[in-house]
Amino acid sequence: MAEKSSLEDRVAIVTGASRGIGREIALHLARKGAKVVINYAGNAEKAEEVASTINKGTDTVRAVTCKADISKAIEVRKLFDAAEEAFGAVHILVNCAGVLDPKYPPLVDTSEEAWDSTFNVNCKGAFLCSREAANRVVKGGGGRITNLSSSVVGSVRVGYGPYAASKAAVETMTKILARELRGTKITANCVAPGPVATEMFFAGKSDALVERIAKEVPLERLGEVSDVAPVVAFLASDEGEWVNAQVVRVNGGAP
Ligand code: NAP
Repeated sequence: MAEKSSLEDRVAIVTGASRGIGREIALHLARKGAKVVINYAGNAEKAEEVASTINKGTDTVRAVTCKADISKAIEVRKLFDAAEEAFGAVHILVNCAGVLDPKYPPLVDTSEEAWDSTFNVNCKGAFLCSREAANRVVKGGGGRITNLSSSVVGSVRVGYGPYAASKAAVETMTKILARELRGTKITANCVAPGPVATEMFFAGKSDALVERIAKEVPLERLGEVSDVAPVVAFLASDEGEWVNAQVVRVNGGAP
């Protein structure tokens, strides 16, 4: 008898799934059997490409796209409405949408606007998505909330002030949320990658800097999106239930 895929009958929302890590997470969850909502901010074409890759060769729709700015409560609500309309009750939220100022200014040169725009997406967005999920994700088993943080919270690199601070706040919020979700069987965790080869990572960096960062990792390479997605899928699975209120650093041992 064929083994049942671990995420069959599960519905997942992946924010920031048009590109980078979120895209691979969406594809990976779909390969495990989940139905997936591909959220994005502006890149409709790339989001559609992810959905059509998942839907290719299947009779039923297994992925839909939904444009929503996660820093706005009303749009986050609409994102969950769209998921429920397409597939029914939601089990899994993976909040992957994020921004990083590619100029990496030190804090003394960081504008109020740059601080706010980083916190609006990374921190407030994670709060709004987590709050909506805590209210609407299936209770009693299989409910999962995963927020993407960053290993830079631990490495405290110069130039990453607002970004690292926004992710540090997400880590603390997520651990408290997990404890507040007592009785629901919904787990809440963070996955905190180190440097991963995506548009976000390469923006504003010279080749020499990219090489130096890659060499800092004991495995002497950058992370790939495929290094991160299976960890998120494990947390989303039934087998991952006992990992709760944690920050899982996925960074090849990067300092
Ligand atoms: P990326 O390639 O820049 O992709 C960012 C994604 O977020 C895109 O899908 C983008 O949508 C979406 N997005 C941005 N603002 C949004 C908003 N307001 N509402 C909804 N979606 C929004 O980034 P990535 O490297 O894959 O990073 C994914 C996550 O991992 C982020 O949270 C990041 O902080 C974290 N992370 C990344 C690294 C790394 O080295 N790459 C390391 C540690 C942690 P559009 O395509 O529509 O613009």
